[in-house]
Amino acid sequence: MNKIKFISAILILLIVAAVIIKTSKEPVNEEIYLEPSVSVYLSQKDTKDNLKIEQYITGTVAAEMPASFATEALKAQAVCARTYAFKKLLDHTKYPLGADFSDDISCCQAFITQDEFEERHPLSPALYKKIEKAVNDTRGQIMLYNGQPLDALYSSCCGGQTDSSLYAWGKDVPYLRTVKCPYCKSAKPYKSMQYIPSEQICRQLNVAKPLSIKIIKRSISGRTTALEVNGKVMSAAAFRSAFNLPSTWWEFKITPQKVIVYSRGYGHGLGLCQYGANGMAQSGYNYQQILKHYYGDFSLYKLPY
Ligand SMILES: [Zn+2]
Repeated sequence: MNKIKFISAILILLIVAAVIIKTSKEPVNEEIYLEPSVSVYLSQKDTKDNLKIEQYITGTVAAEMPASFATEALKAQAVCARTYAFKKLLDHTKYPLGADFSDDISCCQAFITQDEFEERHPLSPALYKKIEKAVNDTRGQIMLYNGQPLDALYSSCCGGQTDSSLYAWGKDVPYLRTVKCPYCKSAKPYKSMQYIPSEQICRQLNVAKPLSIKIIKRSISGRTTALEVNGKVMSAAAFRSAFNLPSTWWEFKITPQKVIVYSRGYGHGLGLCQYGANGMAQSGYNYQQILKHYYGDFSLYKLPY
């Protein structure tokens, strides 16, 4: 899709209203674009909520990033969430009950309503307002690459370096390349340790003791892509999910009773690092500089509503 086609497609999503502004002299005809109304599927209640897109983005930022994070990090998150959402709208992705989005993070972005958010933060009534302001300060802004909205992936903490789509998916996406991130170093998930009983690994993977675990392939950032457990090759994604590990960036230490996993980061590590964004904001970077750091070259486009 080229830029002209993208802009036409996006304008179709926005309802055009003709308004006549009466002045003391001549009447002026003016076209304005209205903010799109969207629907989100609420998986716990099996219902659908109808709301304006900026309200949806607010609920997404509220669910995806701690509201205590610095304002410029919340703004960067709002632009990511909006870009991701418009990509889905343009792709005509549909969710249960015909909704445009879902709050299920296995297929879409997380989302919570203002009531749910306020129930979770009963002592901080100003926090939702802080998120609303960050969303409103970036109203309508999305990231484009080659005239298309970015696949604006983000994850909690990259552990020092983001991953590259070329290694993660075998596909080189120019704005999902590895970058160093010294900004998430003080985050709790930057480095962590997990213990898995050897018995559990043997039982779940159907192998016998003694255990041998070898990392056979790593991505450019150091994340594991494939490993061998007692000679059986498996993907890092499958191993991570089987043992509920925070990421795929590992070193292992094997003892007769347990396997110690030294993990770096939390999440898939592609695109924006949320803790890193907060670290950058605390160091004085604004949201545009934060987004440039993680996604490289893109243009910021303001939707006309
Ligand atoms: Zn990071």
